[in-house]
Amino acid sequence: MTSPATKPCPNCGAQMDAAAEICQRCGFKMVTAPQTNVQKKNPMIAAVASVLPGLGQIYVEETRKGVVLIVVALFMLYVAVAYRNIASELADALYIMLIIYGAYDSYNTANAINIGADTF
Ligand SMILES: [Zn+2]
Repeated sequence: MTSPATKPCPNCGAQMDAAAEICQRCGFKMVTAPQTNVQKKNPMIAAVASVLPGLGQIYVEETRKGVVLIVVALFMLYVAVAYRNIASELADALYIMLIIYGAYDSYNTANAINIGADTF
């Protein structure tokens, strides 16, 4: 039975402690590949952060898209407040659409990051 706390040495195949950096048997040095350090993203956090459209994108490190979304969202809020009697409902609707888009988009991006991290 293999304990989850061990890993095989890539060089000689001996089981060793999962946290070990050097194989006790052959002295092989573990190389910690930078790809395995890709930080996982929680899709739910991304979706919830999208209450302010763009925050979800910034969370999943699509910073440029996130900033654009935030600027557009704040503009919609401004229009909704400043032109309360004229364009409020339209701005509200667009703002809600931005929330839905931001949540959907960042949720999917977070999942894609996680799948990408898993394939390494
Ligand atoms: Zn070894």
